[in-house]
Amino acid sequence: MDKKEGKSMIEIGKYAGFCGGVINSVVKSEKALNEYEKLYCLGELVHNKQVVEDLESKGLIFIESLSEVEDNSNVIIRAHGVPKETYEEANNREINLIDLTCPKVLKIHDEVKELTNKGYSTILVGSKKHPEVIGTISFASPDSIVVESLDELKEVWDSFKDKEHIAVFAQTTHSIKSFKEIEEYLKDYPNVVINNTICDATNLRQEECKNMSKEKDCMIIIGGKNSSNTKKLYEVASEYCKNTYIIETKDDLNVQEIKNFKNIGIMAGASTPKNSIDEVFILLQNNK
Ligand code: SF4
Repeated sequence: MDKKEGKSMIEIGKYAGFCGGVINSVVKSEKALNEYEKLYCLGELVHNKQVVEDLESKGLIFIESLSEVEDNSNVIIRAHGVPKETYEEANNREINLIDLTCPKVLKIHDEVKELTNKGYSTILVGSKKHPEVIGTISFASPDSIVVESLDELKEVWDSFKDKEHIAVFAQTTHSIKSFKEIEEYLKDYPNVVINNTICDATNLRQEECKNMSKEKDCMIIIGGKNSSNTKKLYEVASEYCKNTYIIETKDDLNVQEIKNFKNIGIMAGASTPKNSIDEVFILLQNNK
């Protein structure tokens, strides 16, 4: 979608906003709210305050740990997935899990399990504190590690490189550029198998963001403060467009600062709802 007025143009990226995994988890959570009298969600369903508040108003109860619920409760697992210990605890306490882990994340869990069973140690490239990473690494061997960048990998590589079999995986929303640097560094080690598990949705969004940023004199990135993929979009855009702003909602936008730009691009993270994007678009349009 784009809007031309005189020489000004505002363009929303084709891949901005909800990815398939997030749509799946939001739609199924709303459906589950109609089915269960009391429904919990383990962690924020998506890293977006507006979406979380909306579901909360419809009755969804957010918890940080299974220790907060009674046995036999109904608990949603969000798109990021959870560690294997969560499945074990739920099983032991007969907690009904409504597993909305994105199928792409579940596939990575399966691949990590399979290679771990074959004797591989894992290097997971991603953010150590991100729930998806905490979930995925739990299926790897105990000597496995998480690194966020090539620099971090270099710090530990000497003590890791002699393992017999090493498998490398990526957090689905990791930066393509950062993963490629690691891939290049490791490509000549015969004991290393690289699995680029960055999700297609992330690939397309980051690529589009890069291309837009090269053409625009201002980029606006919309997404939750905790959203790792939104932060990555900001990093990508900032590299090519010096006037890049990251906001959570239209209320964070400094219209006076932005209104003189002629060619504005809008991108949004995977957990940003369409109405948040439209609100920013309309605000900019009305101030042109
Ligand atoms: S970014 Fe990709 S892997 Fe993550 S939830 Fe969305 S579709 Fe699934």
